[in-house]
Amino acid sequence: STREGFSAIPSVKWEDVGGLQLLRDVFDRDIVRRIKYPEDYEEFGVDLETGFLLYGPPGCGKTLIAKAVANEAGANFIHIKGPELLNKYVGESELAVRTIFGRARTCSPCILFFDEVDALTTRRGQEGGWVVERLLNQLLIELDGADQRKGVYVIGATNRPEVMDRALLRPGRFGKLLYVPLPSPNECGLILTALGRKKRIDANLDLMAIGSDSACKNFSGADLSALMNEAAMTALQDKQNSQNKISNVAPWTIKEIHFKKALEKIS
Ligand code: ATP
Repeated sequence: STREGFSAIPSVKWEDVGGLQLLRDVFDRDIVRRIKYPEDYEEFGVDLETGFLLYGPPGCGKTLIAKAVANEAGANFIHIKGPELLNKYVGESELAVRTIFGRARTCSPCILFFDEVDALTTRRGQEGGWVVERLLNQLLIELDGADQRKGVYVIGATNRPEVMDRALLRPGRFGKLLYVPLPSPNECGLILTALGRKKRIDANLDLMAIGSDSACKNFSGADLSALMNEAAMTALQDKQNSQNKISNVAPWTIKEIHFKKALEKIS
């Protein structure tokens, strides 16, 4: 992964994201195509939001989809973690906000991703609030400079949208709210399929069936990733335990039995 605050085009592709088709459609229209075919948008005079807020439970793909958007658009990606920005020395976090937007402009097209953005935007008037308030004001100034922000798209992510300062959610700021839910059973299958792309999955293993199994109910994408990893680990151990006993058999793959064992271990 990239160092915090530095820009690069991420390697995450749409295929690495399971489910979330609606979000993908929105971002395709509002960001990816706009970066790829700016003339079309100008020709038809289409003006779209440049600020987005992804909200929902942890581990469901907010970071992942933001990276995939940048990859698909061929745009740079700057990853900012809200709490880290806040923990800079007093006064320095305002400078940091200015620096970040400046950097985003110089490497546009660029996706500026604010993870845990709620940390920056706790309701005003709380203890230690003035540090947050000054930071927040600086952030609003930068967000409102939209005409200078050409080619810079801002995506925020939060598990707690309700604690965010309302001023931030206005159009032109983090204006478009997009919910990232826990995956449905079918989406669990799609996530496992996406996660399995780079794994040695047995040809007879039905990942869609595993995903829709009641054992995966209420799993987040991050839980499914942990499951996939545990299944791979179980398969690896099977291979290592039986080495020297069987030779020249078909290559070892991850099978249903490995998922069964992994599920037992995880739950
Ligand atoms: P948080 O709110 O905790 O920051 P998040 O919503 O940003 O979480 P991600 O960081 O995108 O979650 O997801 C964590 C990991 O879980 C990913 O790196 C990936 O392995 C897996 N994952 C989550 N959602 C998906 C998904 N829809 N498709 C594929 N993998 C997923």
